[in-house]
Formats: sequence, C-alpha cells, structure tokens
Amino acid sequence: MPDFVADGSMIATTRQKPVFRFAPSPNGRLHLGHALSALLNADMAEKLDGRLLLRMEDIDLTRCTPEFEQSIYADLAWLSLSWEKPVRRQSEHFDDYRAALDRLIARDLVYPAFLTRGEVKARVAASEAHGRPWPRDPDGAPLYPPDERTLSDAERRRRIDSGTRYALRLDMGRAIAECGQGQDLSWVETGDGARGTIPADPAAWGDVVLWRSDAPSSYHLSVTVDDAAQGVTHVVRGLDLFHATSVHRLLQTLLGLAPPVYHHHRLLLGPDGRKLSKSEGDSGLSELREKGLTSADIRRLVGL
Ligand code: GLU
Repeated sequence: MPDFVADGSMIATTRQKPVFRFAPSPNGRLHLGHALSALLNADMAEKLDGRLLLRMEDIDLTRCTPEFEQSIYADLAWLSLSWEKPVRRQSEHFDDYRAALDRLIARDLVYPAFLTRGEVKARVAASEAHGRPWPRDPDGAPLYPPDERTLSDAERRRRIDSGTRYALRLDMGRAIAECGQGQDLSWVETGDGARGTIPADPAAWGDVVLWRSDAPSSYHLSVTVDDAAQGVTHVVRGLDLFHATSVHRLLQTLLGLAPPVYHHHRLLLGPDGRKLSKSEGDSGLSELREKGLTSADIRRLVGL
C-alpha cells in the first residue's frame, strides 16, 4: 500500500515529516518562474508542516558561478523564504553520483558513447533526407543512435585510449528489462497537468546520459541520487520536467531508492508565449527587487 494520504490537491506522507526542496541551477539569475516554484514549495511545506531544503544544482562547473549562487540566496531571502542549512551543493557530491553510476556499470547497464552532438545531427539529417523520420525524446531532441551499445570491449578501449571524448549512457533497453515485470514504474502526481498514478515511459528518452563528457555526472543521475540522499518526499517543480520523471523513476528502481510524490506545476510564459528563460533575462527577480517590488507583489504576479 502506498504510504500516502490525500489532502485536496496535496498528498502527505503518513510516516515521516514531509521534505520539500527547491533545486535551482546557479547558471543564471532567477526569474518569475523560479519564484513560483520556490513559493509553491514553501507554501506546500508549510501546509503539511514539512521541511524546506534548498539545493544548488551546480554540476556544470563552467556555467555555474558563486555570483549566481549568491544572487539566488538574495532573491529567495527577499521573497521571505527560509530553508535549512547547510545547502547541498551538487559539486560537493560527485563521489556519491559516481558510486551510484558504478553500481549500474557493475550490472552492465552503462556504455561509453563517443558520438559528438554534430555527428548525431548528421545521422539524423541523413536519415530524414531518405524519408526515415528519426525518433525524438519528449523534449524533441533526437534519440541517441543505439549502435555503440554493442561495440566490443577492445574497440571501446581503443577509442578511449586514443583520447576520444565520451559520455556514459544508460542502455535503456537493458535497464528496462532489468527492472523486470512486477516493478511499479509509475509515480503519484498531484500537479497542474495529468494527476493520479502516471505510468512512467523511460523508453521515450532512449539511452540517456548518466555521466557527461564535459562535466561530471548528469542532471538525471544527480537529481535522483540527491532526492533520495536528502529524504525528499515531495518534488515540486515545473511541468517542463514532467516527462523527465520517467527516467528518475527508472533510476530509483534500479538503485533501490524510495520515490517521492511529484507535483509538476504550471509554467509562466512570457508575453510572446515562450517559457521564461534565464539566458534571455526574462522577468529577472533581481531587477524586480531593484525596481522596489515586494514579495507580496511577486506572489500576485505569479498568481499565488
Ligand atoms: N535544477 C533544475 C532547474 O533549475 C531543477 C531540477 C528539479 O527540480 O528536479 O531547472
């Protein structure tokens, strides 16, 4: 039996104090969409008498900076939010992600992938030029070609020794087979899109990257390991990550980690209908703070 009780649109765990987390990447300044996410986490944690954690998702050591991290603290404090300390920084936990990866490698579920983004793009273009559509993931990116799954160990060694850069990818077919029948690959969803028990479809993502060629770990691996390591019971984040949950559920199952409840909230769109983005400086919280807006103004602006 699941360990949950429903309360309106929220679900409380029955045995432990609920644990929520806001997990921004300090690779840019926060915008109104982040404010919605952070405030929702705080409101839901308060309503369920839970804890609120803050996690810096800073595995990309080239794009994440201490300045962006400091601006996140300042913006959240301005929103009158408080969180438990110390803040977990992913860059301080690469050993944890490596240990989880090694468990998957030991089960032969991971392989080195040598194709560059350009090479994949060229393959997709060649296939589509012949009228053969290339399968794409839920974000619209082409799936990684599967042929390197079966390279011989000798050929892998030869390429690695020659200095070719590589990522480590999950062999999705094997991973799903390993989970086997009887494993409940679904999640409990209480958010603004589909609700209820959602069947996970990790195959839609193909052979996801677990360890990037240009940075240690990957989003999927570190988020899965951290949510479990921090005892997170409720993941509240944007609907843009709804489908990624399929991969997280698969990794949780492979690694024997307890699944949280998920609440994927509506996204805020810019005037042109696009999702707000850090890189394009949309509705930056620091700018709004400098203009003299208050936390109550921001709540109104994000519809809370
Ligand atoms: N770090 C991700 C972001 O800033 C959020 C990850 C998550 O909430 O699972 O978009």
